[in-house]
Amino acid sequence: MYDAIVIGARCAGAPTAMLLARRGHKVLLVDRATFPSEIPHGHFIHRHGPRRLHRWGLLDRIAATGCPAVTTVTSDYGDFPLAGRDLTAEDGALGYGPRRAALDQILVEAAVAAGAELREGFAVEGFASDGDRIAGIRGRDRRGGAPVTEYATVTVGADGRNSRLARAVGAPVTEAAPAATCYYFSYWSGLPDAGLEVYVRQDRVIFAFPTGDGLFALFVAWPSAELPAVRADIAGQFMAVIDQIPVLAERVRGGRREERFYGASDLPNFLRRPYGPGWALVGDAGCHKDPFLALGICDAFRDAELLAEALDEGLSGRRPLAAALADYERQRDEATLPEYRQNLHLAQFQPLPTELAQLRRALRGDQDATNRFYLASEGLIPREAFFNPENLRRIMAPALAGAR
Ligand SMILES: Cc1cc2nc3c(=O)[nH]c(=O)nc-3n(C[C@H](O)[C@H](O)[C@H](O)COP(=O)(O)OP(=O)(O)OC[C@H]3O[C@@H](n4cnc5c(N)ncnc54)[C@H](O)[C@@H]3O)c2cc1C
Repeated sequence: MYDAIVIGARCAGAPTAMLLARRGHKVLLVDRATFPSEIPHGHFIHRHGPRRLHRWGLLDRIAATGCPAVTTVTSDYGDFPLAGRDLTAEDGALGYGPRRAALDQILVEAAVAAGAELREGFAVEGFASDGDRIAGIRGRDRRGGAPVTEYATVTVGADGRNSRLARAVGAPVTEAAPAATCYYFSYWSGLPDAGLEVYVRQDRVIFAFPTGDGLFALFVAWPSAELPAVRADIAGQFMAVIDQIPVLAERVRGGRREERFYGASDLPNFLRRPYGPGWALVGDAGCHKDPFLALGICDAFRDAELLAEALDEGLSGRRPLAAALADYERQRDEATLPEYRQNLHLAQFQPLPTELAQLRRALRGDQDATNRFYLASEGLIPREAFFNPENLRRIMAPALAGAR
């Protein structure tokens, strides 16, 4: 009998297991994958992600995988490239882009080092129940072996957007919008490191950043409806988008593609109620967003912390478990909903909000203010330190005077 069984051992599951085990709980962490292994997902960690890795004592290990610390960001929404530079905080750079095989391996090892029991290559096929309460998992080693049942006070689904646990319990969907985009991506060598770059052109977005082994990751997204056309000629369609940005195209054509193209579609946007009797959800299983703003990993880290805190309160008897988990849902929703909606707006290729477009124009040529804009947008300094009426008035004043 375990205190918690966590299904899925990547960005959401491994930290949840680690944080619970660090608090002395008996945890079983299972995944049908074995580690290290890749998944066709992105891997740029920014916003509050590096800070959490630092707090958990893992950021140095991520940096040691050879992915450069990213301190420069350029975004271009079809208006002009706006670049922020030297973007660091006390506890890390703006971002890091380790490959998933490297990142997830470090997270899994940290969970095991904290005392969680790991069962890799183990597929969960069903659940044990006790009345209407989930009481554990049924599954088997994928490499062979008899079916196994394991019991726990709480079963946590960190099993991604198609969560088997969420389906089994019928987790209510509290917010939903259909998939907006589809993605293809690959890796190039021989390109100079220009930090994180985001280019939006009508209904296309390019997302590029340096990763391990001296490689450069390039992601392109199209509206979901265009998937059949893109799939018919992936390399051609991909380069046609890159060619819309001549400065980037020149660099990409001067380098060499080292891997095949990977694709991702079926990327719905939703929030699910993340708890019920004997179960909880974390990461994509509870909240899935289009990858546009690259929020999935840092949000999975945050929600792992929130869930581990709630489960610790409940398991240790400091609070009724259901009350602690209700707080988990409230805190997750408060933290995620503004960005979830902003992300959806952008992923639907709607125009930039007017105020943001005006602010970008006013920032042009003012490097210090641009840096502070990115630091505040990314949460490396308090939002209010930049987005306060007085500061915004000061920045916008010359543009407003010119418009008169
Ligand atoms: C194209 C694309 C680009 C992205 N880019 C970024 C980015 O740059 N930055 C960012 O922050 N986010 C990005 N994301 C989102 C990010 O990848 C996810 O939010 C993140 O992986 C969620 O982590 P997770 O642990 O919740 O789920 P997952 O990473 O999906 O892990 C789920 C795990 O559960 C296991 N599992 C599932 N079912 C079972 C079962 N029945 N039995 C046992 N194991 C099971 C799986 O094997 C898997 O290992 C991107 C996503 C995509 C698709």
